[in-house]
Amino acid sequence: MSAGRSSANTRTSSMTRPMPQLNNTPTVSSVTRSIQTGSMNVTASSARSRPLTVVRQGSTDRGSISTQNIPPTVSISQRRISNDTTRPTITSQDRSTVTINQHYGNGAVSESSNDDTEQCEPNGYNLASTMKANEESTSATASSIDRQNTQSYLLLESQLKSGGLTGLQNLGNTCFMNSVLQCLSNTKPLLLFCYKEDLDTHFNRSSTSVMKGSLMKEYANLIRTMWSSSSSHSVVSPSAFKSIVGRFASRFVGYAQQDSQEFLRYLLQGLHEDVNRVQQKPSPSKIDEKAEEKKKETERARTSWERCLLYDNSAIADIFAGQLKSTLECTHCQYQSTTFDMFWDLSIPLPRNKSSSSVQECIQLFMSKEELDGNEKPMCAKCKQKRRCTKKFSIQKCPDILVLHLKRFSQARGRTKLNTHVDFPIINLKLDDLADVMSTSYEGPVPTYNLFGISNHSGTAYSGHYTAQCKHPFTNQWHEFNDSSVYSLSDKSRFISSNAYVLFYERNK
Ligand SMILES: [Zn+2]
Repeated sequence: MSAGRSSANTRTSSMTRPMPQLNNTPTVSSVTRSIQTGSMNVTASSARSRPLTVVRQGSTDRGSISTQNIPPTVSISQRRISNDTTRPTITSQDRSTVTINQHYGNGAVSESSNDDTEQCEPNGYNLASTMKANEESTSATASSIDRQNTQSYLLLESQLKSGGLTGLQNLGNTCFMNSVLQCLSNTKPLLLFCYKEDLDTHFNRSSTSVMKGSLMKEYANLIRTMWSSSSSHSVVSPSAFKSIVGRFASRFVGYAQQDSQEFLRYLLQGLHEDVNRVQQKPSPSKIDEKAEEKKKETERARTSWERCLLYDNSAIADIFAGQLKSTLECTHCQYQSTTFDMFWDLSIPLPRNKSSSSVQECIQLFMSKEELDGNEKPMCAKCKQKRRCTKKFSIQKCPDILVLHLKRFSQARGRTKLNTHVDFPIINLKLDDLADVMSTSYEGPVPTYNLFGISNHSGTAYSGHYTAQCKHPFTNQWHEFNDSSVYSLSDKSRFISSNAYVLFYERNK
């Protein structure tokens, strides 16, 4: 979703539209910038007295979910998570458009929430020995429980060291899905989450939950199967997973080629809702703008983040969500209005008329000031009239996993693809080396990021193939995943090509 931009904008291409909603509540967002297509997605709705109101809108292309569609409980193999699939009772009711004014805080980031991935590491994994050990230690002290958790983690780590090099069968144009699955499979905190012994206790089974954990369950089953073999010649069929994806997102039912980044958004949104800790999302509350303005920006950012967590709070958000600041400045009176949004990935534009660029340049382009003029003029809260304004993004809170989507596809003049060669660092992507990328009120050290996954697209806008290149989270060896084939990669220069489409970076701890 575009921060500060209405998702209702008709010029928003399929590449930049908001993540789908699984129910009538606000959805998580990724952020896109449409500077290259010349469209600024600020519409009349966002041009009133609160220029940066975020309009969240229900998706219309989701298949309705009815109780008839829910499969019987799948046969549970040794590696499957043994809980029942509760039959969802919800139907496609009430997906009306919701306008929320929740993102209006400001400021800095609490460092404590920056380190959330650690929580994935030592707490209980689904190993029989661990379970037994835990049963026997009811009177154990906290430190011995910690020790056992550490031991079970080490046991898991040694098991996973030899896993993960499993190919995925192409079910018919499903390379887009396989490419994303391999990148996510190598996302360490997400992988460890799938191995949590108490994973089923994380499932959101509230009455408003659409999937009741069934998507997360099937995803974890697939991931565990992919990590159970120590051979690089093993191949797994993702058909059970694909069929459950099709149940919550009907667009993925058939075998048409799809966009891997769009699929990533759907999947993360679905997994997030399936383990959302929020059982009952509150009604949008009105924000006292005058009171907000008096607060320090760091305080406003924190409040805004906390407000987001009232709706979207899950282990998936802990891993992928960051916070983006959006500043609108009136060119007449210099009045600034600032809003904050949660983002799950950044869709960064490629510079025009250049055959090569760098990911740093693309990030800076995304964060650069752009002018809103003509029909896009927002209402200045101080001048009380429509004014030419500048708009600028900056990062307020860094996610643990930073997903960068290179906007190679454009709908501007028919569907086209930019084959610009974009260089990107494999280690030490430094955001604070880039001018005007970090928010002025960002607090604490700015993390550096290391690359661990690439979703590649080769071919044209109409016909192409997806592959993935990923770094093993335990051996740090790179491999290429081309549907059912897995190859070892030794020459890192091969990673950087004009096929790179979605980049996965992890925070350097
Ligand atoms: Zn003004």
